[in-house]
Amino acid sequence: MQSLKDKIVQEGKVLSKDVLKVDSFLNHQIDPQLMKEMGQEFARLFAEEGITKILTIESSGIAPSVMTALELNVPAVFARKRQSLTLTEDLLTAEVYSFTKQQSNRIAVARQFLSKKDRVLIMDDFLANGQAALGLLDIAEQAGVYVAGIGIVIEKAFQDGGRLLREKNVRVESLVRVQSLKNGQVIFAEEATV
Ligand code: 5GP
Repeated sequence: MQSLKDKIVQEGKVLSKDVLKVDSFLNHQIDPQLMKEMGQEFARLFAEEGITKILTIESSGIAPSVMTALELNVPAVFARKRQSLTLTEDLLTAEVYSFTKQQSNRIAVARQFLSKKDRVLIMDDFLANGQAALGLLDIAEQAGVYVAGIGIVIEKAFQDGGRLLREKNVRVESLVRVQSLKNGQVIFAEEATV
């Protein structure tokens, strides 16, 4: 997705050889117009899949998921990372090791929001080592839903997540694939899908 690549080049900050900061449009401040375009792109990519629900993880997965959900006219549900007094239902949970926070979280989704009849699109902002997506896949499996695919905004192709997920024969679509972050430069993978 060219507009996303342009935005990354203009505003992304390479924090180290494996961390890209995009706080000005995705992870802190949100660019709604760009987010809308992302939603349209994911909706186009998964148009034939009969998606009935989007499953993501708080907090940065929510914005692109809601925009995609709006395009597909389906609900979006996000896994919670923190315990909440209001989260009292029958919960589906999975353990997820966070790449950026370097700590493990038990993520939770209320069982009532996933039905066996659902055709689910899993989404997240970044794909690094795949732990967040694998945790969401685990929850989807516990719920007995069909997983139509995984939609990722920025895949860091030099980390293991993409391979791990594709080895499971899950369809993974990334709007942008980053090949490397060496020398403070963002190099995109030539084989980026869009
Ligand atoms: P994974 O679970 O695939 O190892 O890492 C994905 C999660 O870690 C995403 O939910 C994202 O929030 C965070 N993450 C991983 N790499 C980066 C990065 O380079 N930049 C930012 N901003 N977040 C990242």
